[in-house]
Amino acid sequence: MNDILPDEVGRWQELETAFRVHAELHGFAEVRTPVIEATELFARQIGETTDVVEKEMYSFERHDDRLTVRPEGTAGAARAFVEHAVAGQRPVSRWWYLGPMFRGERPAKGRYRQFWQAGCEHYGDVGPVADAEMIDFVVGFFQRIGISDLTTHVSSLGSGDTHARFRQAVFDFLAPKRASLSDDSQRRLDKNPLRILDSKDPRDREAVLGGPSILELLDGDDLAHWNGLRRHLDALGVRYVVDPTLVRGLDYYTRTLFEVKTSMGDLGAQNTLAGGGRYDNMIEGLGGPKVPAIGFAMGIERVLSVAPLRARERGPVCWVAPMGDAAIDGALRFARDLRKLGVAAEVDGRGGKLKAMLRRAETAGARFCVIFGESELARGVCAVKDLAARTQDEVPLEDAAAIVADRIVTPRTAPTEAGAIDAGASDAPRGAR
Ligand code: AMP
Repeated sequence: MNDILPDEVGRWQELETAFRVHAELHGFAEVRTPVIEATELFARQIGETTDVVEKEMYSFERHDDRLTVRPEGTAGAARAFVEHAVAGQRPVSRWWYLGPMFRGERPAKGRYRQFWQAGCEHYGDVGPVADAEMIDFVVGFFQRIGISDLTTHVSSLGSGDTHARFRQAVFDFLAPKRASLSDDSQRRLDKNPLRILDSKDPRDREAVLGGPSILELLDGDDLAHWNGLRRHLDALGVRYVVDPTLVRGLDYYTRTLFEVKTSMGDLGAQNTLAGGGRYDNMIEGLGGPKVPAIGFAMGIERVLSVAPLRARERGPVCWVAPMGDAAIDGALRFARDLRKLGVAAEVDGRGGKLKAMLRRAETAGARFCVIFGESELARGVCAVKDLAARTQDEVPLEDAAAIVADRIVTPRTAPTEAGAIDAGASDAPRGAR
């Protein structure tokens, strides 16, 4: 689990803003659900035999409830969708979310026990248009924030009968090799053989080579969906790799599956930036109506480790330097007036010599230092030092805030270098660089 200190948080904010803007451009609205849900929700939806449920959930009991700190966002969002009968109010809903998730995994670079995900859920559209649009959303988002080296893997798990036939085919292929599988997989072979395709154990990886491909089993509506998805992706110019080995670690998927990987950075095996897929049975499984759905989640730490995003520099625009006790009250009032005009100001309460205060102003990255000295106060003025231009003049105390605010002429509307959108500009302090 990581601390995100103020020096790093600027890049997080850039990413979050870019994600919010991108999601809203695609018609998604934000949803915020609790971090804790009933354990049963995850166990049933993610699947009892998945690694997440078997080994990784942070679960506890309180007041006779079995609870789990969420390992992912889809199940909680679906629970909320059903609980608030959203399907009855609108036929199609597009939701996005962002927040911390918790999995007690073996830590590695790019794999943490508390990590952040941003994701989307699209309810009520059976696809494959929705599927293609969502994959295009993810690829487009990564491109927008400057991640150029991407590979998109897509596959289909089929549904109902196809899924069952694939399970049988995998079982038939692996059963003769049972003894060569890992202990976990020997157990899973009977319960959930598809999970073996997902195993990272080298014995299992070896055993599954040359196994059956789900794509050869697709027929009827599943095949039409798969072909439709590919056609729409081609029309959108989204480059992808057909990857029938894609299984993903969660049981709820039906039909479309996808992952977006990068070879940028040094993420090694943890180079999957985002993954998602269709889960047409979850809403009904939770007691809701029959509503198809598709979603994805991306890992924010991983994305930030490769995205060339730069934090906007913050810090005070104006450093307020009271010289001696008599000047403090006026300095405090001046700073408050400035902030009302939208200029970020910081009062140097440490006192001491002017030289020391100017040094602190420069370290803080301030653009102006306004000096409240005894001789100036006696004359009803204060000194305004432009730290960039290295000029200084005096202004009357009563107009000082308005005059300094007027000099801040660099509104923050320029796009960042990586091309992220500057959606935060309107509520940003004036003159922040
Ligand atoms: P999943 O919910 O397993 O489909 O994961 C979706 C994305 O979340 C992955 O592609 C990763 O980018 C990220 N992710 C999943 N687990 C972790 C973890 N333990 N640490 C960091 N990021 C993770």
